[in-house]
Amino acid sequence: MQQISKITLHIGFDDTDSLEGSCTTFIATELINRLHKRVEFLDYPRLIRNNPNIPWKTRGNGAIALTLSVHEDFVENVISTSINTIEELHQNNPDTNPGIVILKGKIPKEIHNFASRALTEVISISKAKEYAERYCYKHHFIGNGRGIIGGLAAVGNELNPEEEDFTYEILTYRTSDYIGKKRSLNDESVRRMDEQLSPLVFNNIDEESRKVLINPAGLDPVLYGIRGENPEILLQAKELVQIEEPLDSYCIFRSNQGTDQHFKYSKPIIRNFSVFKGEVKVIEKPETFVGGHVFFKGLILEKNQMIDVAAFEPSKKFRNVIRDLLPGDKLVAYGGIRYKTEIQNFALQLEKSDIHFLSEHFKEESPFCPKCEKRMTSDGFNKGYKCKKCSYKDRTLQKTKIPIQRKITLGTYIPPEQAQRHLVKPFRRYNVQRKKSFEIIENWWKKSSNN
Ligand SMILES: [Zn+2]
Repeated sequence: MQQISKITLHIGFDDTDSLEGSCTTFIATELINRLHKRVEFLDYPRLIRNNPNIPWKTRGNGAIALTLSVHEDFVENVISTSINTIEELHQNNPDTNPGIVILKGKIPKEIHNFASRALTEVISISKAKEYAERYCYKHHFIGNGRGIIGGLAAVGNELNPEEEDFTYEILTYRTSDYIGKKRSLNDESVRRMDEQLSPLVFNNIDEESRKVLINPAGLDPVLYGIRGENPEILLQAKELVQIEEPLDSYCIFRSNQGTDQHFKYSKPIIRNFSVFKGEVKVIEKPETFVGGHVFFKGLILEKNQMIDVAAFEPSKKFRNVIRDLLPGDKLVAYGGIRYKTEIQNFALQLEKSDIHFLSEHFKEESPFCPKCEKRMTSDGFNKGYKCKKCSYKDRTLQKTKIPIQRKITLGTYIPPEQAQRHLVKPFRRYNVQRKKSFEIIENWWKKSSNN
């Protein structure tokens, strides 16, 4: 029997966009359009969000991986098309440092580990290049090659349904003559779509401000993106959103957005720009600083180490919860570590907190008069209490302890949608059942000019 020589290729890339335009997902959609006649896609393109605390990231720190099967005769052609597409479409900007990696066959476990680390740590470009040399069939970069880090991390983060939670996002793209013009999106239709399809779509609307969150601003080629639990629901959502401009293309991505995946791999370690998860005991009452940021001193219980914990202004109502914590309270704190020059120390910026213990606090008050029930006053130090109404005196009476009614309750708290990081799992997903598999549907992507 003749062997059909199909090769599995993994193509990962990152850092192709800048704040001035383009978008890594747009390049992915273009590349899919250029490759689709020669390959079979084995997965949706994966949109992988990595450590959100990296300061030099482009916006959401999102990288792309494509997994495909190709006849061995076409392998070199597919690789050169991929590299040429990145070369041609990346944003030409000194802060944009694209990188692309190509792996063949099974992903080595070292690349899986690299991907878990990229979710929570800072990885150096030199380390990534070392991995690329060792494990990639080919790699290519422009500038300093920082995109190699995300490219490897996207390839290694396979979102295997047996191990990882995952979601989908449909991204729609504008035609070139509309890019830069005002987006014509009917906000009411987005709110209706969200109501109709909830909880299978999420993060479309900010519950607190009712603001529509699906459209980026400025020169981004993305018209809007909708996140959800399955590809079919996203195609429905797209039909429900009313727009008044033509679409160039759309594509559905499989993603770790909205899954808390970064917290799954994080530890209670204070290291600049890394993701933190650990049990913290409140040591001092929270204080509000200029700008509305709330800080408290906490003790990392696993490490017996102090940390300043912060809820920043953009987290809005979430800050009220943090402000009401009292010494002795305990929470599992999730967030990012950042050195703060204002406080000359590291701060843990909260993205989520599970408050699981509220300490008891009392206020002390003078006792009531046993004769007339009027509140008594102190008769001086160690002289007991006297009643002003009936003049009863008692040297043995003590202050009474009254438990303070706590304003907060035990539970999980996260900032409102508009302040949530891409990776944070929104409340709407808490009761949605975990997916155990995925299937590639028809029409998972489309480019209008192909019709
Ligand atoms: Zn009295």
